[in-house]
Amino acid sequence: MSYQPTIPETPPVILPRAEHSISRQQIDPDTLKVLYRLHRSGFKAYLVGGGVRDLLLGRTPKDFDVGTDATPNQVKKLFRNCFLVGRRFRLAHVRFGDKVVEVATFRRLAEADDLPENPEDHRLFSENIFGTPQQDAFRRDFTINALFYDIADFSIVDFVGGLEDLALQRLRVIGDPLVRFTEDPVRMLRALEFAARLGFSLDAATREAIYTRGPLIAEAAPARIREELMELFRHRVAGSVLRSAGSMGLLPHLLAGFEGDEETFDLLERLDARTAAGTPVNESFALAALYLPRFSRALPTEKDVTITDIVQIAGLILAPHCGYFHLSHGIRHHARELLLGFFRLRRGRGQRGERRFLQHPMTSEALDLFTLWCEITGSDRQLITVWQEAMAGGGEPSEPAAAPPKRRRRRRGKRRAAPSAAPSDSAPT
Ligand code: ATP
Ligand code: MG
Repeated sequence: MSYQPTIPETPPVILPRAEHSISRQQIDPDTLKVLYRLHRSGFKAYLVGGGVRDLLLGRTPKDFDVGTDATPNQVKKLFRNCFLVGRRFRLAHVRFGDKVVEVATFRRLAEADDLPENPEDHRLFSENIFGTPQQDAFRRDFTINALFYDIADFSIVDFVGGLEDLALQRLRVIGDPLVRFTEDPVRMLRALEFAARLGFSLDAATREAIYTRGPLIAEAAPARIREELMELFRHRVAGSVLRSAGSMGLLPHLLAGFEGDEETFDLLERLDARTAAGTPVNESFALAALYLPRFSRALPTEKDVTITDIVQIAGLILAPHCGYFHLSHGIRHHARELLLGFFRLRRGRGQRGERRFLQHPMTSEALDLFTLWCEITGSDRQLITVWQEAMAGGGEPSEPAAAPPKRRRRRRGKRRAAPSAAPSDSAPT
């Protein structure tokens, strides 16, 4: 474990209100209320983190976080609607209806002497030592994420050179990237994510350190990697970030069983474009997309392949990822059914079970996945319209003669009687 980067004696750069573009009208009114009340009660009150960065870049922040020198208990006393949350990271949540304004006390990283004897207690302990605004800035990951907006005089306070990096569109780690990536390897993935989201370049030392420290990401907590991965999809940068993770040697340590090939990166970029156009992405869809090219390559060419075979192949391909990230049965099942739906769509119309498949709620999602696939491979495009028309027609079948109705009815009855026995029980069959 490493400790606080050396903090220079130099005072922060202060950018007065007249010299920057952030206006209070851009800040959420409830967050402003919290900032003002802290300030009037004699505490320091800053807008911190991604909100300041995004406002300075002319973007709409996802959320606004508040930093203060009031302790969590002092914050609680000031707001009736305040709840203290978190063990690792003691935070005050001030609630306004459904909305929560997160208020964090300035913290610093622990020095060796501060830590309890038992190393297992270090993380919990070290993240809760209160510090000065300067120490709070230096504990953060990147310079552009460590800018403060001071409600006392509406200035920007910059301890770490973040303003310069914003102007140069450069992502730079605070302190020594080798040390900071060892301390928390997830920061490597975050570095690629922010660079892609903002269109920034990685500074040379940060890039070098990712090459050197890449293998450490295998030791990061799976739950955190899972969360950051979903952030990539939500922010529409999954394709480009995983592509750069591949070229920087990070991928094999990040996702076991994931083949970072061009087709997959292209597919993910298509998916990012779909998200950007307004269709939110859920975790099972992201999962199915990550492994679709591999699944497609694994499909047997024989005509007499059964649905059970296909379900098995999909399950085997998804298993390492689902196991590593402890994904719920629901997510696994949904992803597997999307792959199965893809198989049915690519196979074309006129197969057994088509009516049920067309009426199944997951089929249109599978068609979305299939469409992304057709767009990147250029194949089977005509099938998209064929299936769209079939779905618009309410599932009027073009069933094969080979499937007598009586026999089908019996099969369905059987399945209903023992739903958990079939691997694709609630799925389109
Ligand atoms: P966005 O919410 O738009 O994705 P953000 O900058 O707010 O971006 P968060 O993940 O919400 O990112 O984290 C909030 C802030 O906490 C960051 O701006 C950064 O200062 C700090 N931070 C988050 N993760 C780390 C980390 N692993 N190491 C150090 N600081 C971190
Ligand atoms: Mg945030």
